Amino acid sequence: MDTIVLKFGGSSLADNEKLKIVANKIINRAKENKVVVIVSAQGKTTDNLINQSKELAEMVEKTDSQINKRELDVLLSSGEQMSSAKLSILLNLMGYKSISLNAWQVGIYTNSNYQNALIEKIDKKRINKELENGYIVIITGFQGIDKNNNITTLGRGGSDTTAVAIATELKAKQCYIYSDVDGIYTADPNKVPNADKLKNISYEEMYALSSEGAKVLHDRCVEIGERFDVPIITESTFNNKPGTQITHKLECSGIKSIVKKDVSRISVVGFGISSNDDTLNKILEIADKNSLEIFNIDISRTKISIVFKEIVKENVLQEIHDALIL
Ligand code: ASP
Ligand code: MG
Repeated sequence: MDTIVLKFGGSSLADNEKLKIVANKIINRAKENKVVVIVSAQGKTTDNLINQSKELAEMVEKTDSQINKRELDVLLSSGEQMSSAKLSILLNLMGYKSISLNAWQVGIYTNSNYQNALIEKIDKKRINKELENGYIVIITGFQGIDKNNNITTLGRGGSDTTAVAIATELKAKQCYIYSDVDGIYTADPNKVPNADKLKNISYEEMYALSSEGAKVLHDRCVEIGERFDVPIITESTFNNKPGTQITHKLECSGIKSIVKKDVSRISVVGFGISSNDDTLNKILEIADKNSLEIFNIDISRTKISIVFKEIVKENVLQEIHDALIL
């Protein structure tokens, strides 16, 4: 049997009904595979925990930066411990052998950079032992331990990185990232309704998209996937449509997606983009038509990023998308 890794994001685990949908999805995949599941915290849990620590600081008239960083990671890591336990309780109640493991039980070792720790080493013995015994293994995403057994976290969105790192270590056949969107689109479909889903995208393009503001994947997980050859597939928890596969193979060069970061930075991503003057000219025309002043342009082989001097409205994103992609 092949080993596969399935990662579920916070919005896929937000309430009991959704946990049941996730459990059924896992059960289905476990018929033909050894399954390792990585979970985020449920819904907005991590945001709530951050806010609770800020309330404590405010109460004693201290700033957020004065919150003890070690203790903050102890607090933040608790969200994933809850979701992994709940999912495992449910799977066991549904008649499937399942075990939850947190970062110290697995041995996910990181440096000591609290709130943004880097994974240094993963011990696969315990995971393999549980898989051999027929268990579905549920692992807390986003957390690790340092060499002194202090709890660390990997940075917001970091459970994607846990998933790909574990898939690498286990030589898993695929790493599926499940969320409430079913793939990578030519632009955020919530902002650009006629955006199209991509079948494939290369690691390099996906890295550019993630670091330029696309929320679907943590940029560090894409880097690990590329380095260790892990096929990453993004799919929706709530439908069975084929998602987007991130691989080395490039279907073709050309523009793949338009993405906005913060309020005034727009990036057009696609391999070979810098060799086509037409792309930049079209963006400049649209900026001019919308009376947008440019602050900075940054061009590399996979992207053109433009920072405007003012806030860019969604209609501009739509216009650039339609001019370049349709
Ligand atoms: N729960 C963490 C966060 O909200 C990690 C993750 O979702 O990947 O950032
Ligand atoms: Mg995420």
